[in-house]
Amino acid sequence: MAQTAQDRSFFGHPRGLSTLFFTEMWERFSYYGMRALLLLYMVAPVSAGGLGFSDSDGGAIYGLYTSMVYLMTLPGGWLADRLIGPRRAVLYGGVFIAAGHFSMAAAVLPMFYLGLFLIVIGTGLLKGNVSVIVGKLYTAEDNRRDAGFSIFYMGINLGAFLAPIICGYLGQQINWHLGFAAAGVGMTLGLIQYVLGGSKLGDVGQHPAPATPDQRARWRRQAQIAGGVFFALALIIGVGAYTGTIPITARQIADAAGVLLLTVTVGFFGWLYSSSEWTAEERKRLYVIGVLFLAASLFWSVFEQAGSTLNLFAERNTATTLLGFDFPSSWFQSMNSFFLWIFAPVMAWVWVRMSAAGTEPSAPTKFGWGLVFAGLGFAILVIPASQGGQASPMWLTATYFLHTIGELVLSPVGLSAMTLLAPPRIGGLMMGIWFLATSIGNFVGGRVAGLYESFALPTLFGAVAGFSIALGIILLIAAPSIRKLMPAQVSKAA
Ligand code: GLN
Repeated sequence: MAQTAQDRSFFGHPRGLSTLFFTEMWERFSYYGMRALLLLYMVAPVSAGGLGFSDSDGGAIYGLYTSMVYLMTLPGGWLADRLIGPRRAVLYGGVFIAAGHFSMAAAVLPMFYLGLFLIVIGTGLLKGNVSVIVGKLYTAEDNRRDAGFSIFYMGINLGAFLAPIICGYLGQQINWHLGFAAAGVGMTLGLIQYVLGGSKLGDVGQHPAPATPDQRARWRRQAQIAGGVFFALALIIGVGAYTGTIPITARQIADAAGVLLLTVTVGFFGWLYSSSEWTAEERKRLYVIGVLFLAASLFWSVFEQAGSTLNLFAERNTATTLLGFDFPSSWFQSMNSFFLWIFAPVMAWVWVRMSAAGTEPSAPTKFGWGLVFAGLGFAILVIPASQGGQASPMWLTATYFLHTIGELVLSPVGLSAMTLLAPPRIGGLMMGIWFLATSIGNFVGGRVAGLYESFALPTLFGAVAGFSIALGIILLIAAPSIRKLMPAQVSKAA
């Protein structure tokens, strides 16, 4: 860390940030490039090269995949902290991810499922840990830390912006599998860059947390047993389902994942609230964490429908011609990142201004607004959905604009508030819990898309909007009382 603390060679930040910026940019390129195509490919008729799944099955598998990707950051973080260190976790993760995308480039169903499985494992190893390394570039006192994370977030969104344009075009206009292969090429470029740029990171993130040889040996055994059971089960279920010897469908696996998610969440919060190790002060903060977690899960349930419900609306009910140019419907997937690039600096400026005037809202208020904006994004779609026919592209553009504003008031604030509120000894765990909220959101977001063909669209959009706006308003009303549970410096900083 010492060698990076003084370093200002990447826009005033340690040069290692450039390595992590581009690694995550390419990883997100591969994730969002593939995600832009995933549901469309599953529900496209076989005659159009798709898998011919129903919306309901496609939505369930989409929700399963996108939620597991984020859930796996929990074991991924554990493995890095205790055994292999974040740097190696990112490397292995990238290899799994690239292999997964290339697997999906082959046009056979088992390779499709294998690819999803590999990407889930790989992202679990990479996504959380690459952010952990960003944090390690700075000392605790370094006030460049937040700005460093903002630059990193721009890298995420550069990848997320470019991916649907390239992978979406190749996948939808030429061949689905070419789109998946392009995602794999992106991750490969990211890996090459990560390895070549490794020296810029020096020793940062190279080692797991200090531990005695005994502890380490115990963790290794635990990892071997858990890993062995997990991979053996995956193999048995995968081969069994494929050969028909085990009567289980992808749909049932998706349902089981929902139960798993619920169990992990209830188990974690059950432990959090029943443990006697917290002081009265800490306990108050844990209630705030619970509220923010719930609000974040709901927010992502609406927002993450970008790749599911909204992707279907773009494909089936929106005109994809602009000034005589016919573009692939997946290009709408780039809009969130496009708006983020424009409005992230504006929002940062607004917070600075408000903070100087002493009027910056507290985290619960910001979360309330996040839910309201997410809901408004769906509310305006009720209009074109009721009119029928092909909606103007302006509607979805407006939706993504509103969703981006919601993301900007909630997402950057979220992790910072959660980590500041958590008792320091579980600070690391909080990163995983933040991704657990995203995981739940993706699961629900996939399920809602499964209702696309069974509900009238204005009803579906209206219900999502009403739900989100109502909860947002409840949170806005409750925010002043919740704020009282937060210590002064946290409610200000968050
Ligand atoms: N778009 C951001 C990313 O991919 C945040 C996603 C999320 O947490 N739901 O990292």
